[in-house]
Amino acid sequence: MKDLNKYLRDQRRRAPKPPKQFEELEASTLFCSKCKKAVPVRKKLLLTLPEGDKYDYLCTECGSPIGSKISKEDIPIQFITK
Ligand SMILES: [Zn+2]
Repeated sequence: MKDLNKYLRDQRRRAPKPPKQFEELEASTLFCSKCKKAVPVRKKLLLTLPEGDKYDYLCTECGSPIGSKISKEDIPIQFITK
């Protein structure tokens, strides 16, 4: 029984986040300095920071990054004590 409890605890710790069902659909356009026009952008998760997920916006035409934002919606509501 002891082992089973340990197994369950490990399972829970390893459980991945549920996959996102809804991609943020932002029909946004930004000005690309390379294309010299407003272009539709592709959102790409760059890295996960303590304050939120950082996204890069890439030009869909030339692929260069033209913006970024930090999305805070995924922050779990909890207090982290160090
Ligand atoms: Zn471009």
